[in-house]
Amino acid sequence: MNTRDIIAAVEAVQAAILANEAQIESLDRAIGDGDHFINVRRGCEAIATLKPELAPLPPSLAFNRIGMKLLSTIGGASGPLIASFFISMGKELEGLTEPDARSFAQALAAGVEAIKSRGKADLGEKTMLDVLIPASRLLVRLAEEGSDLEVLCSKLKQEAEFNMLATRDMIATKGRAHFLGERALGHIDPGAKTSQVALFAVCDMLTLGATS
Ligand code: ADP
Ligand code: MG
Repeated sequence: MNTRDIIAAVEAVQAAILANEAQIESLDRAIGDGDHFINVRRGCEAIATLKPELAPLPPSLAFNRIGMKLLSTIGGASGPLIASFFISMGKELEGLTEPDARSFAQALAAGVEAIKSRGKADLGEKTMLDVLIPASRLLVRLAEEGSDLEVLCSKLKQEAEFNMLATRDMIATKGRAHFLGERALGHIDPGAKTSQVALFAVCDMLTLGATS
């Protein structure tokens, strides 16, 4: 994966987030404060303006630039969390111009670790981490095994969808939804939904060349 792929992935994620506006909006209206879609869209738009600046950079600096931009543009709890994800990915990829699947998987795992430590959250708390932690573990395992890209993406998508849906039956112990107690049951976590949509978009871009 090189910086051209990263830019294509960013475009694919932006298109997919816009295509899922209604659902993401309504989920945060149900168990949050309704701003999650706006926060994420603002982040996507900010990254889109960086494209010409990112193109000549190696992946590590491109991810760092994306993270720093997000830190100053997205609000909410999710802003600094997503920013720290990109900054840590960038750090992990230092010195690599065309990271292979293994390096990329390790970088993603480092990004997810950064979200965990910044948000002081872990699995089972009804957050984006319920999609991201299992997805990054699976990616590391499949990349180590040298799994074929098609197989890898198909398994990742399955895992992400299953775990996104599983947040419906969780009580939140982090984020705004934790104020709701059992009233959060029956609603998918908005950050988990956004994470699944983003993962699907990147997988589809890599395997089908699709942009949404
Ligand atoms: P806010 O909650 O400040 O309104 P957003 O609406 O943009 O921010 O984001 C809400 C999402 O952020 C939640 O759906 C959840 O997935 C995620 N989130 C909230 N707190 C945490 C945390 N401590 N760790 C990981 N993810 C979190
Ligand atoms: Mg919100």
